[in-house]
This record gives sequence, C-alpha cells and structure tokens, in this order.
Amino acid sequence: MEGRDISCPYPHDKITSMQSSLEKLRKFFRLEHENGYSNSAIIGGLAKMLDFWEGEARADGINEEVIQAVVQRLRSYDGLSPQSRADALKGLWKRIGDVYPEAAQKPRSVPGASEGTPRPRPATSEAASTRPNPTLARRPAPQPRSESMPGAKHSQTPAALNAPLTVLQGVGPKHAQTLEGLGLKTLGDMLYYFPRRYEDYSQLKPIKSLWYGEQVTVIGTIQSVHTRPIRGGAATIIEAILSDGTGSLRLSWFNQPWMANRLKEGEQISVSGKVDQYLGRLVMNQPDWEAVDIEHLHTNRIVPIYPLTAKITQKWLRGLMNQVVTYWAPAVVDSLPESVRSSARLMNLGEALLQVHFPDTQDSLKSARERLAFDEIFYLQMGVLRQKRDWKSVEGRRFSVSDEWLGARLNGLPFTLTSAQQRAITDIRADLDSGKPMNRLLQGDVGSGKTVVAALAASIIATNGAQAAIMAPTSILAEQHYRNFKSLLASENGIMSEAEVRLLTGDTPEAEKDAIRAGLADGSVKVVIGTHAVIEGPVQFKDLQLAVIDEQHRFGVEQRAELRSKGTNPHLLVMTATPIPRSLALTVYGDLDLSVMDEMPAGRQPVNTYVLRPQERERAYTLIRGQIKEGRQAFIVYPLIEESEKMEDLRAAVDDYEVLSKEIFPDLKLGLLHGRMKPDEKDETMLKLRDRQYDILVSTTVVEVGVDVPNATVMLIEGADRFGLAQLHQLRGRVGRSSAKSYCLLIPSNDNATENERLQAMAETNNGFILAERDLQQRGPGEFLGTRQSGYASGLRMASLTDVQLIEKARLQAQKLFEEDADLKKPEHSLLAESLQRFWGESGKGDVS
Ligand code: ADP
Ligand code: MG
Repeated sequence: MEGRDISCPYPHDKITSMQSSLEKLRKFFRLEHENGYSNSAIIGGLAKMLDFWEGEARADGINEEVIQAVVQRLRSYDGLSPQSRADALKGLWKRIGDVYPEAAQKPRSVPGASEGTPRPRPATSEAASTRPNPTLARRPAPQPRSESMPGAKHSQTPAALNAPLTVLQGVGPKHAQTLEGLGLKTLGDMLYYFPRRYEDYSQLKPIKSLWYGEQVTVIGTIQSVHTRPIRGGAATIIEAILSDGTGSLRLSWFNQPWMANRLKEGEQISVSGKVDQYLGRLVMNQPDWEAVDIEHLHTNRIVPIYPLTAKITQKWLRGLMNQVVTYWAPAVVDSLPESVRSSARLMNLGEALLQVHFPDTQDSLKSARERLAFDEIFYLQMGVLRQKRDWKSVEGRRFSVSDEWLGARLNGLPFTLTSAQQRAITDIRADLDSGKPMNRLLQGDVGSGKTVVAALAASIIATNGAQAAIMAPTSILAEQHYRNFKSLLASENGIMSEAEVRLLTGDTPEAEKDAIRAGLADGSVKVVIGTHAVIEGPVQFKDLQLAVIDEQHRFGVEQRAELRSKGTNPHLLVMTATPIPRSLALTVYGDLDLSVMDEMPAGRQPVNTYVLRPQERERAYTLIRGQIKEGRQAFIVYPLIEESEKMEDLRAAVDDYEVLSKEIFPDLKLGLLHGRMKPDEKDETMLKLRDRQYDILVSTTVVEVGVDVPNATVMLIEGADRFGLAQLHQLRGRVGRSSAKSYCLLIPSNDNATENERLQAMAETNNGFILAERDLQQRGPGEFLGTRQSGYASGLRMASLTDVQLIEKARLQAQKLFEEDADLKKPEHSLLAESLQRFWGESGKGDVS
C-alpha cells in the first residue's frame, strides 16, 4: 500500500473545473490504481463503465477522439495483465491531459480556474465546495488521507455498496445499530434512504411578506415562549414568538407541554407550516420545526430532512449522508441501459442519488425524483411482464361452449347483458379456449354486474365436467353469490343439480363441510362458493379448472396463489370494483389481462348525494320515511371498521339502533348487522332484509362489500368524514341498484367536517374512476390499493402512482426492452438483470397482483 499514493498518476482530489464524465474517469482510475489494477473498480469490470460513460462524455461535450480512445482501451482492458493495465490507464490519462490540461493538474486545483473550458454542469456544483459548511456542500473536496477513500476506513470498490456502515468515519458498532433501526445496514441502503422532505433555504421568505394561507418555511429567532392552560387546565398551549427582523410570527403547539423546554429564547429555528390568522395576526399552528445551524442560512440551498429515530439528530445523519452520497453516489454504476436512459431522457443514477439528497435546484430535485421513480416502475413492470410470460408458458385446458348453449343461458337471465358485460364474456370465452391458463382481471365499478359474468364463466367450466371455485371476502357476500349462482346454474337453467353447487364458509356446520369436501374430492360438487374456507388445508379438488376471486383487493396475494394451487394451472378470474386508471392497472396488474366494464346496466340513475349537517339529521329521517312509504328500504351505516369493532364502539351502534327503532322509527321494522354477530345471525338478517321483512338495516361497514339488495334506495352514512373515498363509494354502491331513484346522505361527525373534501367529492360525482383518482392523490397507493396489497406497492418509495405520464413512460420502456431481451441475456443488460433480481428479491417474487 504505502507509497502508492505518491506514485498515483491520478489527482487525489476532485478537479473542480473538470467535466463530470472526466471526473468519473479520474475516480475510477484512481480506485483501480489502489486495487492494484485488478479490474475491480467497477462491478463486472471497467469496461462496464462504457455503458453509461460514453453517453455522458458526449453530453459533456468531450472531444470525440478522446472518447474513442477511452472506449477502445477499456474494451480490451480485461484481457491485459496488471502491468499493461497500469500502462493503458496511465497512457489514457496522459492523452486526456493533452486535450484537457486541467486533468493533468496535481491536487488542489483552484476552483473556477479554467474559465475557458466548456462547463455544461450547473455552476453551483463547483461553488458548493468552496462554501464554508462541509456538511452541506455538495461533493466537497475529500479530506486528504493516506488512503484515497474519503470517509471510508478501507479502500472499497463500488461493489462494496454492500459494505456495512461501520466503514464510515464516525460510525461505530453503536451507531451502526441505531442506523439499523432505520433499516440502514449498508452504504447502498443509505443512498436509497430518501429525505422525508426538504427545507428550501434558497426560497426563504421574510416574515413581513408572508401571506395568510401560504405553506412556507421561515427562519427566525425565538423572542419568547409561554405556556397557557386552556379548557380549565385540561390542556395546554405553548406559544412562541418568532422574529426575523422584518416582522414577527406567533407559533403555537397544542398539548405538547414538553415543547416549552425545547424552545429556548434567543435560539434560531426554522419552522414550516401553513400561515394562519388569529385575531388579525399571522400565526402558525403546530409547525414542523428544527433548530438551525447558522451556516445553513448562508448555504442558500435545499436541505434534506430525513426520517429519524430518537437517538440520532438530523444534523448528524445529514452529515453522514453527505459523506456517503458525495463519495458513493458518483461511483454507483447505472444499471439502466443507456438506450433506455437516453430515450426516456433520464438523469443518470449517480447524479440522481446525489441530487435527491442534496439538490442543487428544485428542478434538479425533480429530475432526480423522476429518475428514481422511473426505476421503480420500470423494475415493477419488468417483473410483471416476466410473471405474465411464465404464466402463459404452461398449458391450460381448453373449454368451449357453442353460441346456442350460451344464448340459452343468456335468455334465461332476467335482464339483457350490457355491452360491457358481453365484451367481458367474449374475452373470457376466448381465454378459456386458448390452451393457456386465463389470467384476467375484471374491473367494473360497483353495480356494473360482475357477478353474472363470473357465474357464466363457472357455467362453461361446469358444463364441461370440471370444477370451479369462487372466493369472496365475507360470508354475507359468499352467501349472496351462492343464491345467484344457484338460480343461474341450478334452478330454471338446469345446467346442474342443486347438490352440485355448494356454499362453504367458516360457519358451515362441520358435518356439512365434510360432505362438501368429500364432494369436491370425488368431483360430485362442481361449483363451490365460499370465503377463505375454500382454501383451507383439508379442501381438495378432483379437477379444479377455474378460480374466481371477488373483491380481490380484500385478499392477500398468498390467498390467491393458494386457491390457484388447488388445481393444476387452472384458469383465473379476479374481480375488482377498484376503478384505477388504465395505465396504472396495466402496471400494477400488468401480469393480468384486463377487461374493463365501464358501463352500468340500462336505466340506472346516478345516486343523489347530499352532505348534511348533524343538526339536519331529521331531514334524513324524513326522506327515509318517505322512501319506505313507497315500498323501498334503507341502510343506516355507522363508522366501525369491521375487523376492529371494539366493544364500546359496538355498544354505541347497538344503543343507536335502540334509539332508532324505539324512538325515531317506532312504526318501522329495523334490523341490526355488525361484525360481532354470529354468522347465521348475519345471514338471517341479510335474508330478512332481502325479503323485505326489514325496512331499515342499521349496520357497520360489513355491508360495504358487494351486498346487493336492489330494493334499497337510501344509504345514510353517519360519521361519514371518518371513511375514505373508496369506502364511501363502495357503501354508496349498495343503493342505486335498480331503476328507482336512490339517495346517499352523508352526515359527518361534527359540523366543521361538512366542508370535508372527500364528502364534497362524493356529492359532485358518481364516477368511481374520478373518485379513485382523488383518493389516490389524497392518500397514496398503499391506502388505495388496499392495505393487503401495500406490500406489493411498497417497493414504490419514490414513484407516485398518480403520475400517469411517468408510469406510462416507464411501462413502455420496459415493454420495449422486454420484447428485445426478455431474460436480459445480452451482456449490456447483465447489470440490469442483477438490479432486477435485487428489486424482486426484496419485495418477494411470485404471485404479484
Ligand atoms: P357488482 O359489479 O358490484 O358485483 P353485481 O354483480 O352485484 O354488481 O350486480 C348489481 C346488480 O345489477 C344485481 O342486482 C344484478 O342482478 C344486476 N344486474 C347485473 N347485470 C345487469 C344487467 N345487464 N341489467 C340489469 N341489471 C343487471
Ligand atoms: Mg360484486
């Protein structure tokens, strides 16, 4: 090791005036020198660098002859002996030095010294290194050390992004453990630990020019701090006055008494939040705040704010991050092929990782985020395409029926299919007869009539002697499907006997369960409809050929895989009422073929939706009475989440039910439905509602999913502000299921919430796609796709599923590449293959949607 530095032909420090592509060469050559010319400075060999370097060098305006020389030398580099490699790189660097004299410079070049050279990079990246604050300066000059790796204790190759954090200066085992609590184990983890938000000190506003309603960051000095008891001492408010010389702003924190000790008079802090008004003065309530280092103020830059644990400070982590990012981000090898990168106009990965942590400008931050988001969608899509291909690579049994046969089934229906339903059935018929297993997602808004489509699919299988299983998320729904299927398959139609269509839920008596299981095993039961009981261990099918999953967002991926595994490559139909934009559906469910039912059965009218104040409840009751007089029925729903129905909440619902039935509607028949009822009680209640023995059903959200009682025309939702949009839309979908005019009445839990955006959105539109898009914007993909699926979407840290344009771009690029080299066998795709493996390795492979 020793002496190597002295003989190292490549400058130790960053040459600040040099183009970044040359700067990269310097870094890698230097690393290679330290590694004894073992061709290990880059994973896969130095030639790998050409994948990205050539394009970058051109973008930097590097002399074409120089580029060619680099390309030639590096291509043949691997075949050389260490000595020849040393000579090759030295020769190359000298050549570069001839054309770009600054490259030949020895360390300590003066920033900005070479005015004459073209410098396409933003000037800030150079200027930053001359700034006083080392923690914030982007790419500061590495400290001179005997080893070249700034911040690292050992010489590392870029391959060592897997290196533990203890290689970093200032990180011992203790800190490493704390960082592990944040999920940070390696340098690579650090690079991908993105800021939660940024403080844009380049856009600071003086207090005197703040506007009411603005979302801003302000820096100032704390003038005073007071604690004020409110509500007769039951709570406290901490108030502080912040001033910045131009004016003052009152800050207040509600019920956080400890804040009083943390805010010190005379201290400088930054606060972020919305500017509000109180008695004519500007205030900020519950702002995010942070003590400010004086230096930050002068940096004039965008500062990252990371998610933290209690044991570390923002400043410490930021400093550490700076150390990691500065050195390692440029060393990250971009695995996205140059062709993709340039045609999608993406920032290169190293630069993106740099910019996402320490952005130069809002624009570069945007490009960085876009690049990182692109990667996520791109990898997602590559995996999904592969999954789809794998599924299609196996045989599926062919099932077909004649047009006459199908016509007779359709004639037996009480209605004519919508053209959307017909299209879906045409798709399914083609799939079942394709020789490949069907993998189809049937997407249709609530009430669009998905059930009948599934029943027809099952009938095609059953009439050919094989078995079909339908899985629904609740026993109420399973039971309802069972009745529909029976009337479609067994009664008038006579495709099969009643004994061949069975219902299997957790509540089915043991003896009956045994009989059904036996029937499934010997093939005498043709169609089974049920809950997850259908996939439970002992259930075996003789010949399962179709698996249908209703309300698929309610199931986990494993459950779907399990159902499928009950047969050999059975056909699969999954149904969802979650209306997601097409491009998104293609990405998230890209492994499935898609049928969209974007049409409601004829004669349906939009549900009239009103937001009422709690005091206006009587109006709601009047409307309900009027509808019941006309022979209709109503739902009154309370905001209890079925899985977590707590006893006290439940008591409230039961109490309300008592009040409603004894005092408000003493003359009407009311039923009660909640998640804690015994299954047969639930079924009985639903049957009574269906048979009009109840006028009103008082319920928790168990009615949310799928329940179909077309005679019901009023849906009153109490505490409506406590529901998400998707759920409100589902609940509203319980009415408006016939040609009669229906109503949805939303009563928030308090007066203020009548302005609630979600409730207003509900009143504005009945269109599930529009609502879904809003929900997506407000709550993000995890909520939107359902908690069960967030594991799948959690690979998406940067990508916003609302950015349809980006999704579309990444999807098309992935598709193009997939068509060209599906298995990433080409040498120029080998890095990508590795990254893809890592991406999917983390989020779990297999049944992705
Ligand atoms: P979802 O798509 O929400 O599962 P369902 O399958 O429960 O909807 O159907 C909603 C209601 O519409 C049911 O009462 C069903 O019988 C009825 N229905 C389905 N298709 C049609 C149609 N083409 N014309 C009239 N009514 C229909
Ligand atoms: Mg349904």
